Amino acid sequence: MKLKILSRLSASTEIKGLIEEFRQFANSTDIEWLVLESNYHRADAALINDGDNNTTLELINRTLPKAIEINFQHLVNRLYNLRAIAKQNSGDNSGALKDFHLALNNSSSYQNEGWAITIYSNMSIIYLEIEDYDKGLEINDLAFELFKEEKIENDQIETSLLIMKALFLKNTNDYEQAIKTFYQAENSAIKSGLINLILNVKSNLSGALLADNKANEAKKVVLECIADSVQHSLSSTLSYCQSNLAHIEIELGNYPEAITLLKQAKSSFEKKNNMKAAIQQQLSLSVAYERSGDYYTALQQLKKYYEQNIDLMFNERTKEISRIEEAFEAKLKDKQIALLKANNDLQSARLRENALTNQLIIIISIFSIIFLLYFIRNYIKIKKQTVFLEKSNATLLDNSFIDPLTKVGNRRALAEYITMLEDNTKNIEHYVVILDIDHFKNVNDTYGHMVGDEILGEVANRLSAETRDKDKLVRWGGEEFVFVIAGGNKDNKTSVANRIIKTISSKAITTSVGEIRVTVSAGAANIKPGQLNKETWPEVLKKVDRALYIAKEGGRNQAVLI
Ligand code: GH3
Ligand code: MG
Ligand code: MG
Repeated sequence: MKLKILSRLSASTEIKGLIEEFRQFANSTDIEWLVLESNYHRADAALINDGDNNTTLELINRTLPKAIEINFQHLVNRLYNLRAIAKQNSGDNSGALKDFHLALNNSSSYQNEGWAITIYSNMSIIYLEIEDYDKGLEINDLAFELFKEEKIENDQIETSLLIMKALFLKNTNDYEQAIKTFYQAENSAIKSGLINLILNVKSNLSGALLADNKANEAKKVVLECIADSVQHSLSSTLSYCQSNLAHIEIELGNYPEAITLLKQAKSSFEKKNNMKAAIQQQLSLSVAYERSGDYYTALQQLKKYYEQNIDLMFNERTKEISRIEEAFEAKLKDKQIALLKANNDLQSARLRENALTNQLIIIISIFSIIFLLYFIRNYIKIKKQTVFLEKSNATLLDNSFIDPLTKVGNRRALAEYITMLEDNTKNIEHYVVILDIDHFKNVNDTYGHMVGDEILGEVANRLSAETRDKDKLVRWGGEEFVFVIAGGNKDNKTSVANRIIKTISSKAITTSVGEIRVTVSAGAANIKPGQLNKETWPEVLKKVDRALYIAKEGGRNQAVLI
């Protein structure tokens, strides 16, 4: 509050002191928005009080990104506005218009209607400068309408709007209305209590009065302006008022005074680097000399004016070009950074993808190896089991054809043998013998089953000894054996059977209980080629059984051929 009052009433040095106090306080709190706010006021003071564009721009450009970052929209809009004014002061009108538009952006929820009015009026100043009076007046009227609509009681804004309106009127040569409006502006400025504003009105009013050929009235106003400027140490305003006074003196014919004033104004504008204003003084100097009759000096001064004007125009052009270049470079840099970032993102995405692929490959490889090992292990296991099963199957198969007690073939072996005969030995005659141990029941009864088994084994051994590869000996069941002899002996058919039974009876069998002599009876039959097969077998068996029965009936230990 104190700050506001002082800024309205006091000299700039006091304001500076207060702003410095504010800055120190803000920095000591370390509260970011407060520090940024203090920066704004420093920038504002540098611009308004000192006309120091560079400091203002430097401060704003440092503060603005941070204000945007913390979303301090109210300050962001004010910074854009201030930067626009600074740009405007440095002759960058298009940059200024851009910043004014940015200052209007998003401002509705933060700034009141007074804000839009301020911006509009600032924009109209630019239109004044670029001499687009229609557009300027249009925007100024827009601002005025808003001002009245909202019933804003702000003398400062009203003054500004009135000044602008008056300036547009003056530039369209409507001096009477312009002067009237300037007086309204003066009243309003006095009400606002802002010395800058009052002096601004006075300076412009004097210009309008002069344009309307009211030099004396103009001089009165401008002298007030000078006195106030000196009192409030407002050097910039002082220079403008001096310049105005010079023009009035020219009109009044006081050329030496005018020349002195113009020289003073020119050098002070130069000091402030306000070259445009300085060159205007130069032009006025040549006019003053011309009017005083010193044409030679007037010409020299005019020549100087043109030289300086060319320089200024050249400088402005160079500045404009460098501004465009800077903007282009900044945009290019942004694009390059964006491109680099996109590239980096792509690279890192690719790296991530590769890493994932590698991981996936590793995982798949590990799984593959595990699966392979598992597969190999299983394969080996299955192979081992298969081999074992094959072996045990073979053993089982072998065993299923072999009689475990006598180790000769069993009935199944005989059936297999007969099946085999069907294919291979169609033209061969066979000699089939059935053998039965005589009175074996008695052997068992006398010596026991164990001894009976021993005898069975030895009988089988002796019969086996009589067997050739192409013959087949099987244990038919109990103490009975079947002997199939391939080929046979056609001439002496019973000799084979007799020889066989003799191998049993001729020699006693050694058992665990001593020597035991057994005999066997045999029934034999000759089977014609092709007549021994699965179908004929029951008949063949019946035949040899009958022969065996005859041999038993005949007294045993004999062979009977049927
Ligand atoms: P036959 O001269 O009339 O043939 O008199 P046999 O006593 O041999 O009469 P049978 O055929 O009625 O008796 C066969 C006996 O053979 C009965 C059984 O005790 C015996 N036997 C059958 N198989 C075996 C065996 O595997 N081991 C032993 N120890 N004896 C058996
Ligand atoms: Mg028997
Ligand atoms: Mg028997």
